[in-house]
Amino acid sequence: MKLLADIERNHEALIAIRRDIHAHPELAFQEQRTSALVAKRLSELGLEVHAGLGKTGVVGVLRSGTSKRSIGLRADMDALPMPENNRFAHCSKNPGKMHGCGHDGHTAMLLGAAQYLAEHGKFDGVVNFIFQPAEEGGSAGAKAMMDDGLFERFPCDVVYGMHNLPGVPVGVFGFRAGPTMASSNRFDIVINGVGGHAAQPHKSVDPILIAAQMVQALQSLITRSKNPIDTAVLSITQIHAGDAYNVIPAQAVIRGTLRTYSVEVLDLMESNMRRIVTKLSEAHGATGELQFLRCYPPLINWPKETEFAADLAEKLFGADHVDRATPPHTGSEDFSFYLEKVPGSYLFIGNGEGDHRADVYEGIGPCELHNSNYDFNDALLPIGATYWSKLVEATLTA
Ligand SMILES: [Zn+2]
Ligand SMILES: [Zn+2]
Repeated sequence: MKLLADIERNHEALIAIRRDIHAHPELAFQEQRTSALVAKRLSELGLEVHAGLGKTGVVGVLRSGTSKRSIGLRADMDALPMPENNRFAHCSKNPGKMHGCGHDGHTAMLLGAAQYLAEHGKFDGVVNFIFQPAEEGGSAGAKAMMDDGLFERFPCDVVYGMHNLPGVPVGVFGFRAGPTMASSNRFDIVINGVGGHAAQPHKSVDPILIAAQMVQALQSLITRSKNPIDTAVLSITQIHAGDAYNVIPAQAVIRGTLRTYSVEVLDLMESNMRRIVTKLSEAHGATGELQFLRCYPPLINWPKETEFAADLAEKLFGADHVDRATPPHTGSEDFSFYLEKVPGSYLFIGNGEGDHRADVYEGIGPCELHNSNYDFNDALLPIGATYWSKLVEATLTA
């Protein structure tokens, strides 16, 4: 595939940056070292640097020409609270923390594009390089940056983000218009009955029996209460009640997660869940309460911007490197907050099908995201940086 020669020449330097970030993973909102590295690099390149958005986020602004047109490109910077099992030289130096999702690579790719555009870019307008903290674990760094005025201070006509995808060949881009990643929501259900002697159930209101029925009733909402064409996943992941063999407890707690691809289905599911929780508890003489927390909204790619981004990838790398109907993911992504406000698209880049890790030991599993043996594929760095650079030039045509 044909890449920008000026970026290919920087491949080794980009690898060094990527591995440096990989070796020093930092968790959500603690990305001090990473954001300092990013800010330093951006100011060396002559960009206007704004640090401290969403605590540890950084925005680099690059202007060319006179146009007010603008584009935002986003890389996430945080690592995961998990141990790394790799043994190569650049593996994590911070015990219990690991770049297991490739955000080290996303950051390095975007820095590569910033360098190219600062030195050679031909465009007319404003590029906002958004280095975002805290994508993982529902921390919503995207929302934190928006709460700090991201789009008011750095207006973007369009915004794009990119994630590596293991199992897809290197340099194959995935696009999808419309709902692409699920909303992520958590719930807590508390059933208050009346505790008592297990040998005299008629003198108590047993919350465990209600909880057992409630699991089934909630699950039936998936098949009976929404249009079968719409997707929703409801998983009960915790049930807590009781401490003794001979005591009916007074309370049972149920927890779990709900995923949907649209806000409409989410609204419907939440209200139906609330009805089941209160009325089923009431039917048994208990009280039930649902606490529902919406973490990340569904990620819905804008059709026009997605098509534009896919057309460009096809023009640059050929139709065999473009999947215009990449399958939707049940995972979540806080880039969805941006897309609620600004047109744009979230795309995927293949991280490779096989093993590209610097060391491979027997018995080590496939290179999957959030796996202790994952590593971002350095071969992607010039590909992603080339794509970002060309996307800017195609959007802000000089
Ligand atoms: Zn992740
Ligand atoms: Zn990720």
